Amino acid sequence: MSESNNEIVVRIEDLHKSFDDNEVLRGIDLAVRRGEVVVILGPSGSGKSTMLRCVNLLEKPTGGRIFFEDTEITAKKTDINAVRAKVGMVFQNFNLFPHLTAKKNVMLAQQKVLKRSREEAERVAVDQLTRVGLGDRIDYKPSELSGGQQQRVAIARALAMDPHVMLFDEATSALDPELVRDVLGVMKELAKGGMTMMVVTHEMGFARDVADRVIFMDGGVIVEEGTPEAVFDNPQSDRTKDFLGHIS
Ligand code: ADP
Ligand code: MG
Repeated sequence: MSESNNEIVVRIEDLHKSFDDNEVLRGIDLAVRRGEVVVILGPSGSGKSTMLRCVNLLEKPTGGRIFFEDTEITAKKTDINAVRAKVGMVFQNFNLFPHLTAKKNVMLAQQKVLKRSREEAERVAVDQLTRVGLGDRIDYKPSELSGGQQQRVAIARALAMDPHVMLFDEATSALDPELVRDVLGVMKELAKGGMTMMVVTHEMGFARDVADRVIFMDGGVIVEEGTPEAVFDNPQSDRTKDFLGHIS
């Protein structure tokens, strides 16, 4: 479990999101403190990905407000790229450039978005790839790496931007079981190092070990939240009980 303080990094206020007449998020309120690890659980279609994508402005909310540190990112004049640079996101399917080596994948956004020199971007890339256990794979292309290694490149790429919060959307769901552990290990190290994290996952062991707080979503709302012990051992809502009953 990580140290958290009272400083809010991400504040979501009455967030609504509709796709045409399908209201997917129906009023989400959530504040994430610096250093806090929030794990988001919920059945498929409950709006977990949409919520994370709103925090990164990959989706435009239809109602409510989101603050990142002191900036209301949902305000019209907000510089979306400046926000994205500080909000790291890791997806289920890695999204690496197939023709670039691991090192070049990690260098690219540093040079394009942060305007770092090639030398600095390279130094940071090597550092971050080493940090995720891939110091000996920096010149490999994605097709020469396992899924777990590719996902660790994606994590290194996000970390190279010096994010203030990391969003993980089912980062291990596409991996073979034997590769899941290494990726979860990297995520756990990040959490221990004090990274602020919002993590959508079905890995209940990870949630129990690493989460400061567990959120259960269903039908576009937060149904229940609490410490892992409270949510797993003493769930209050029937929907949470039903979900946990099916998973474990
Ligand atoms: P979860 O991640 O919890 O499985 P999602 O946020 O992916 O849920 O999806 C919630 C609902 O929003 C689903 O019904 C899904 O079909 C719908 N949805 C998500 N993205 C889009 C989109 N780009 N266009 C239309 N509907 C979408
Ligand atoms: Mg999803």
